[in-house]
Amino acid sequence: EKFKDGLSKTRDNFSGKVNDLVARYRKVDEDFFEELEEILIQADVGFDTVMTLVEELKMEVKRKNIQDPKEVHAVISEKLIDIYERAGESSSDLNIQEDGLTVMLFVGVNGVGKTTTIGKLAHKLKGEGKKVMLAAGDTFRAGAIEQLEVWGDRVGVEVIKQGAGSDPAAVMFDAVQAAKSRKADVLICDTAGRLQNKVNLMKELEKVKRVIEREVPGAPHEVLLALDATTGQNAMVQAKTFKEATNVTGIVLTKLDGTAKGGIVLAIRNELEIPVKLVGLGEKMDDLQTFNAEQYVYGLFA
Ligand code: GDP
Repeated sequence: EKFKDGLSKTRDNFSGKVNDLVARYRKVDEDFFEELEEILIQADVGFDTVMTLVEELKMEVKRKNIQDPKEVHAVISEKLIDIYERAGESSSDLNIQEDGLTVMLFVGVNGVGKTTTIGKLAHKLKGEGKKVMLAAGDTFRAGAIEQLEVWGDRVGVEVIKQGAGSDPAAVMFDAVQAAKSRKADVLICDTAGRLQNKVNLMKELEKVKRVIEREVPGAPHEVLLALDATTGQNAMVQAKTFKEATNVTGIVLTKLDGTAKGGIVLAIRNELEIPVKLVGLGEKMDDLQTFNAEQYVYGLFA
């Protein structure tokens, strides 16, 4: 239900247009597909993904000898799910260790909703019975440490921090030691979101990762990139940059509730081959959901 609510803007935009299209055409022809392409592109599905999707739709329509535009509807849903799942292992489950400490690293540009997502995820995992701790690894942005502490208080989890301007790698070292000695299940680490200088970003992330790798074998278990769904193609550019800078294992797409262009989920999956693991559907503590392709596509049309 949350998923459905969160997608209402996209659904109104996308589904409304598709319904209108289907109602206007009497048979499925080239013009029909051209208009469909346009609708998909406007929903931020991404050019390459749209081309793949529409090509396959055409084949399917031919194979099944579909004439009535209304019947295309179901095929569109099927193909959307298919394209999403085909792009790689379809699991959006977080890699959480059954025994021992799981370390997750959050990366992303300032303002995308990284801190909020860390808070929400801490709340979700705590609700599942896990002992969660946070590491204030963004020592660069003014107020970032305090903001994480506010979330720590709200959710009721401990935040490991040092002063503003301190070395993020040192914060991580402390945080990992604290998490081990307190027998935490999950340590969620914030990082600075500077993108102006890719070399610095890369160096900082590498250094932080090295500390974590050294202290916890097999960690970090997730490197999650937060992207703001409302920023469309900008988010795609950010994703490409971070993918080059570090080994991103999953995407958290924030503010999906705030955009009519939720098609970006498909573009990310298909063009970057990184699974969307979580989606942000609002500003509150409970507004974080595990991504599910079928629920997503259902939410687009329901
Ligand atoms: P950060 O700079 O990346 O850490 O971003 P913040 O966590 O401070 O979030 C920036 C703004 O986006 C805040 O006002 C959040 O409340 C808001 N925000 C974060 N996630 C979501 C979401 O899923 N939906 C909506 N509507 N707002 C969000």
